[in-house]
Amino acid sequence: MNQQIMHIGLDDTDSTRKGCTTYVAALLVEKLEKLNVKFLGYPSLIRLNPNVPWKTRGNGALCLRVKYDAGLEDQIKDAAISLVEEHSDLSFRGTDPGIVFITKAEIPDELKAFAKNTITGIATLKEAMRLIKKFGGEALGFNTCRGIIGALAAVGETLEADHTYELIAYRMAENCGLKRKVDAASIFEMDKLTQPYTFNNVDLEKGRVVITPRGPDPILFGIRGETPEIVKKAFRIVKLLEPVERWVVFRTNQGTDAHLRRVVALNQIEPYNSVIVRGVVSRHPRLIPLRHVIFSIKDETGEVDCAAYEPTGALRKVARDLIVGDSIEAYGAVRKPSAGKRLTINLEKINILALAPKIVLQNPICPKCGKRLKSMGKGKGFRCEKCGARFDDAEKVQTARERGLKAGLYVTSTRSQRHLTKPLSRYGLEKHGAEAEGMIENWHFP
Ligand SMILES: [Zn+2]
Repeated sequence: MNQQIMHIGLDDTDSTRKGCTTYVAALLVEKLEKLNVKFLGYPSLIRLNPNVPWKTRGNGALCLRVKYDAGLEDQIKDAAISLVEEHSDLSFRGTDPGIVFITKAEIPDELKAFAKNTITGIATLKEAMRLIKKFGGEALGFNTCRGIIGALAAVGETLEADHTYELIAYRMAENCGLKRKVDAASIFEMDKLTQPYTFNNVDLEKGRVVITPRGPDPILFGIRGETPEIVKKAFRIVKLLEPVERWVVFRTNQGTDAHLRRVVALNQIEPYNSVIVRGVVSRHPRLIPLRHVIFSIKDETGEVDCAAYEPTGALRKVARDLIVGDSIEAYGAVRKPSAGKRLTINLEKINILALAPKIVLQNPICPKCGKRLKSMGKGKGFRCEKCGARFDDAEKVQTARERGLKAGLYVTSTRSQRHLTKPLSRYGLEKHGAEAEGMIENWHFP
C-alpha cells in the first residue's frame, strides 16, 4: 500500500468567548484514529510570539503528523476542515482560523526558520503563502486568514531545541462556563509527588492552583511536565469532581523560553520581539504609580528601559534593588514605545552578571579610640567625641556597603509566567534533538 505523510497545522479557531484550538486538535485525534492513521508523534502545541498585538489568548497553534494510506488523503483533510468549521467562533472579530496541510516526509529548513520567526517575532501571511506554495502544501483560511501563519509555524516547529509535554483534560460540553470542579488538595499532592518533573501546577506563594484556566473554554486543566509518563501519572493523582470528556498528551514548546532571542546589542532590539540582552544599569530603579519598577540599561549602542510589573513579586523586588553600574541580562518582551519614548522590555527574568559596589561616604574613624568622628560642619573638619581630638584636614571616606542581592537568575513568579517562560525548576532538564523515543501506548482518551 502506498503510504504518505501529512503534517496538519491548525491555528486561531478560538475567541475570548468560546473554543480552544487544542480542543479541535483533540477531536481530530479521535477522528483520525478511527481512520486508522499512524501518528508520527504526539500532537504538538506550539505557543507563538506572545507579544503580537492581535493575539487571541494563549496564542497556541497545533500540528498533527500522520502516516496513512494514500487513498485516505481526502478523508483526513475533510475531517480537519469540518472540525475547524464546526468549532471555530467564526463570527467573532479577531478569530481568523487557518489550516495547513504539508505532505512532505521531512520538514524543510526554511519552514523551521519560518516557525522560529513566528515564535520570536512577527511573520507575514505573504511569507507563509509563499512557503506553502513552494513546498506544494495547501492552506485554508477564514476571515482575515491570519491563522494560516500560526498553522504553518506549528508544522515547521519540530522542537529540536527543547520541549515539554502537557496533558490537557477537557470538560463535558454542558459544564463549560460553570465553575471547574477539581479537588484542589489533590493537585497540591500531585505537585509534591511529581515535581520537578511537572511544573507550574500551583503557586506556593499564594497557595493557589494554577493548572485550571478561567473562562468559558472547554479545558478543565492541563498538567505540564518533562515526559508523557509523568503527566499521565500526575493526571491519575488528581481527584476529578466532574466528568472528563477527553484528554490528550501534547508535545509542546511551553516552558522552554523558545520566544526569547539573544540580541547582541541594545540598538538591535525591536518592538514585539522577546529578547535576552545585556546591559549595564544606567538609571536607578524608580517606582511608578500602580507599583511597577522601571530602570534603564545601556551599552555602547543605546539605552532601553526595563519594567518589572506587579504582580511579578520576586522579580520586582530584585529590580528595585539594582543600582547604576550593575551588569545584567534582561529577559522579556519589547513593548512598542509611545511617541518620543524609549523602548521598554517587560521583564520576565533578570540575570545579574555582576553587582557594582555600593559606595557610601562616611566620617573617618578616630585613630586613637576607633570611634567614628563627628563632623564640625561642611569644610570644618572632624572631632572625636570621646577623646576630644580634632582633625581639621580629614575628609569623608568611601566604604562599600553590603548589597543584600546576589548574582544569578531571577524569574517572575509562577502566577505571572507566560506559557513559554522556562521556570527555574526546568533548568538542567532541557531535552535537545528530535523526538526519538517511541510513544506511550495510551496518550489520549478516547
Ligand atoms: Zn578619639
